[in-house]
Amino acid sequence: MEQASRKYSVFDVEVLKWELERIGVKALHVFTIWTHVLAHPDTEAHDVPGLPFAAIDMIKEKFKTLTSQVKDQETSADGTTTKLLIQLQGGQSVEAVIMRHDAGAGKYAGGPRQGGSRATLCVSSQVGCQMGCTFCATGTMGLKGNLSAGEIVEQLVHASQVTPIRNIVFMGMGEPLNNYKSVVEGIQIMTGRCFGLSPSHITVSTVGVIPRILSIANDLPGVNLALSLHAPTQELRCQIVPTAKAYPLHKLMAALNSYQTISRRRVLVEYVMLAGINDSDEVAHQLGTLLKDHNVTLNLIPYNPATSSDYKPTSQEDLTRFQKILRGVHGVRTTIRQEMGQDIAGACGQLVISQSVKQSPKLTDIEDMCSS
Ligand code: SF4
Repeated sequence: MEQASRKYSVFDVEVLKWELERIGVKALHVFTIWTHVLAHPDTEAHDVPGLPFAAIDMIKEKFKTLTSQVKDQETSADGTTTKLLIQLQGGQSVEAVIMRHDAGAGKYAGGPRQGGSRATLCVSSQVGCQMGCTFCATGTMGLKGNLSAGEIVEQLVHASQVTPIRNIVFMGMGEPLNNYKSVVEGIQIMTGRCFGLSPSHITVSTVGVIPRILSIANDLPGVNLALSLHAPTQELRCQIVPTAKAYPLHKLMAALNSYQTISRRRVLVEYVMLAGINDSDEVAHQLGTLLKDHNVTLNLIPYNPATSSDYKPTSQEDLTRFQKILRGVHGVRTTIRQEMGQDIAGACGQLVISQSVKQSPKLTDIEDMCSS
């Protein structure tokens, strides 16, 4: 249990159910509470009509409708992107980013999709991250804490007050599979009766936590997996993703095979392009050989220099050449994010807390990326 002054979110479902059952109140009241507070976000949960008396005092003492609050909100000039700076009750902050796509534009039309009805929310799962990927701003923070299921769901609640959300990507701060229980619980709420999101519109991105890759296909059927690969050999991957030492490439690819055997889903492979590091022709061929027999979409992501490491972005010309080798020689379905250094939707580690959205990034629709 936490300190007396801290309260749980009503979306911390396991705690809420346990507390209700402890006082003899049926867990079905959880749905009544959520429905009411979503329709009336300014109401406190204990004011929900029809709650048993025993539940009112308990909820008043231990729960809040929202434990977090939006401290800042910034929308790009063209209206495609909105960043929410969300303060947790402990005082720490995370970001959630809303990206809007035009559902009317054709797939892979070669340009950004302005406005329109599809909105994707990029959520954070941790404050900071312990994985230490060498291109990543969040990785330099170390791990400051795990978000609860309620804090994860609250990002959706806040964003839904800005625009209706259709897709969720776990590509904000943190390694989602290192906060597995809360992420699974949060997604189960998002895809449940109240929020009703389709599992196929949710993508969990990992840098490769092998034991959890093996369990996620069973725990979250229908949800998409994105794998942040960034290198096709163990040696190179260890330079970019230090945790590859604990989760070596051959075991990671075996885990990917097992995941796909169970899930039967196409996997999005994320690859941040770092000039002179992982963008040579030789590396392209190694990557093609590694991926050609897998059901994947490879997403080449221009490195975002705002993440302030020593890396440099690959030139547009080299990106195109790299893609041609993957596509033309190895037949790997490969896409490129177009806007150099601005794409906040690319992968975990490409979301930068202090980066302004005034110059809006061009966006690729995650729904297209994950479709089979
Ligand atoms: S890239 Fe992702 S997994 Fe790696 S340190 Fe950054 S947030 Fe963590």
